[in-house]
Amino acid sequence: MRRLLPALIAVLLPLTAAAQTPYAGPLFDAHLHYNDEACMFPGACPYPIAEVLAMMQRSGVRAIIANSRPNVGTRSLAAARDETRKAGITVVPFVRLYRNRADYSGWFADESIHTMVQDELAAGTAAGPYRGLGEFHLYDSANADGPVAAKLMKLAQARGLVVLAHVDDAAIDKLMAHAPQARLIWAHTGIGGAPIERVRALMQRYPQLVGELSYRPGLTTGGGGLSAEWKALMTTFPDRFVVGSDTWINGRWSGYEALMSDARRWLGDLPPEVARRIGWGNGARLFGLADPD
Ligand SMILES: [Zn+2]
Repeated sequence: MRRLLPALIAVLLPLTAAAQTPYAGPLFDAHLHYNDEACMFPGACPYPIAEVLAMMQRSGVRAIIANSRPNVGTRSLAAARDETRKAGITVVPFVRLYRNRADYSGWFADESIHTMVQDELAAGTAAGPYRGLGEFHLYDSANADGPVAAKLMKLAQARGLVVLAHVDDAAIDKLMAHAPQARLIWAHTGIGGAPIERVRALMQRYPQLVGELSYRPGLTTGGGGLSAEWKALMTTFPDRFVVGSDTWINGRWSGYEALMSDARRWLGDLPPEVARRIGWGNGARLFGLADPD
C-alpha cells in the first residue's frame, strides 16, 4: 500500500489542479431580452427594471445588448439612465424585429417589419442610437433569402449595425452573402449543434462573424467545465466569442445569476486573457465601450 500511495497522488494531483477558479472580471451580456412578460406595465411586472439591474450588478455584468418584444422594453431600459448609471451598466440597444409572437414566423417577408425597423432607427433611444438588429430567428434557412431578410442585412451593413441572429449554419452563409461586410453575432453559435469543424470553417470564412454561447450544445462537460474541443476553438479564435443570458422567458430571469456564474465557471478554464476577451472585451470592442473601472 505504501508503495502505491505516491502513484495514487501522482494520478490525483493533476485532477485537483484542473479545477480552475471562476473568471472574476467584468461580463458583457450579449444576448439579453426584456420582453413584455418580464414587465408589461405596473401591476404586470414580475421583473421591474430595478430588480433586473440588481441581478446584473450582483453578477458583475457591466454592459448588455438589450432587445425586446415589443421594442418598448428596450426603450424603457435605455430610458432608465440614472438607474443604469448607478448600477454601472451600459445599455447597448438593438431593434427587435417582433411586435408580437406571430412576427417570429413571417418577418423575413413582411414589409411592415422593414418599416417598423426604420421607424425605430429614426427614433433611437434615450441611451443613444440603436446599435444593432435582432435577435431574429430563422427556423428554415431558406428564409434567409426572404426579401426583408436580405434588405435588413444590407441595411445593417450600410449603417454599421450589428446583427444578432438565431439561425443554423446554412443560414449564416446565406445572410453573409447578402452583406459580406456585415458584423453578425451568431446567437448560440448554432443551437442545433452544428459540428465544431463547421463552426471553425465559418469563423475562418467570415472574419466579422462572432459566436454567442448560450444554449450551445457540447460547450461544457457534465461538471460545468469547458469541453476540450471548445477550449481549443476559443483559443484559436479568442476575439470571436461572447457570452449571453438569453432571457427569452421569465424562467431565465429567475435563473439569471446562476447562468452568469455558470459562464464564469467555464470561462475559468481558459487562459485568463482569453477569458477576459470572451467575458467582456469582444463585446466591448464591437461597440467601442471603454473598460469598466
Ligand atoms: Zn434570444
